[in-house]
Amino acid sequence: MFSKETLAGFNTRKTPFYYYDLKLLKETLSACKDAANEYGFQVHYAMKANFNERVLKCIQGFGFGADCVSGNEVKKAVEVGFPSNQVVFAGVGKSDDEIITALELNIYCFNVESVQELEIINDLAAGVGKRARVALRINPNVDAYTHHNITTGLEENKFGINQWELPACAEYLNRAQNIWLEGIHFHIGSQITNLTVFKSLCVRVNEIKLWFEERGFNLKILNVGGGLGVDYYHPDENKIADFKAYFEIFNQFLDRKPGQEVHFELGRALVAHCGTLISRVLYVKNGIKKHFLVLDAGMTELMRPALYQAYHKMENLSRNVELEQSIMKYDIVGPICESTDCFGKEVEIGTSFRGDLIAIRTAGAYGDVMSSRYNLREQLEPYYTE
Ligand SMILES: *Cc1c(COP(=O)(O)O)cnc(C)c1O
Repeated sequence: MFSKETLAGFNTRKTPFYYYDLKLLKETLSACKDAANEYGFQVHYAMKANFNERVLKCIQGFGFGADCVSGNEVKKAVEVGFPSNQVVFAGVGKSDDEIITALELNIYCFNVESVQELEIINDLAAGVGKRARVALRINPNVDAYTHHNITTGLEENKFGINQWELPACAEYLNRAQNIWLEGIHFHIGSQITNLTVFKSLCVRVNEIKLWFEERGFNLKILNVGGGLGVDYYHPDENKIADFKAYFEIFNQFLDRKPGQEVHFELGRALVAHCGTLISRVLYVKNGIKKHFLVLDAGMTELMRPALYQAYHKMENLSRNVELEQSIMKYDIVGPICESTDCFGKEVEIGTSFRGDLIAIRTAGAYGDVMSSRYNLREQLEPYYTE
């Protein structure tokens, strides 16, 4: 739901654009921070979900660290004020240049995804006369029960080090001069709504942690990644993810020694609901069997429906459904020359007309960051309320 003033703001702007409710963002950050503090847990924000500068500054202001997946994200995190000792760098394909950038910026830790990458970081660190802190991203083989395109913790996925490779890692770490093992890292997927999945993760982390400790490694951090999902169907009823229940699972099921830190990397759950893509109906096409609303926003602005068949709740902001509207079923599509450029099929929404404002909700995570110039589309200027 949007206030009258916010709607008035929408009406004066050229569409499409992303709208960010920074008040809701701050409420979400505060809820997450409080729930994490309860158990002394530390959260790094997974910057790839949304790297809008104002959003980043809010998040940094609440004392979150930054979880980056490219050299440019590392640079950006430091630029907007994340202290470099709260920046971690993950990713299955870090280039030499990116690794050197991160070494020069003295980031806290590299989350390393293969034995070969350990060797490369060691050699590059030697080259610049540094010792790099690393955490091993281990594939726990836990099914996240989420969309297959966003499942990352199974042995068939490209991410992480598989368990049979751990002896080789341990052997190399014992020999390597320019890397230091800080801890172990896991990330099993995204948009996870079944919290028992995280309990299964804890069980695997406990086993793997023991394996290292039995071999004399002192693990300072256990990094259990991100993945907490949000309610795309009920953005008004469930504005803020259930951070309490989420952290409580880890508190209950994760074994930790005194002084051992637990780190999280949340992306989506922090920023999804505060963002909305606002667009206008360009055309209404009535077919024999189907009715189409053609919007001025498309997959170039929000790719999730095309990429993961993702659901986003849509609302017509120009009509009052209760007072004057009959409900229609439309296929709501964008202007891009691709059949997958469709935000939803048979969507029930009030009868709509050319010029109506359509809100595509819960678009703050993996929305604007995935936008592309395909069809030579314009880059959007976001709109904010505090
Ligand atoms: C994407 C990603 C995250 C964040 O995932 P969310 O589902 O947005 O919480 C965390 N850690 C790593 C390594 C990632 O790649």
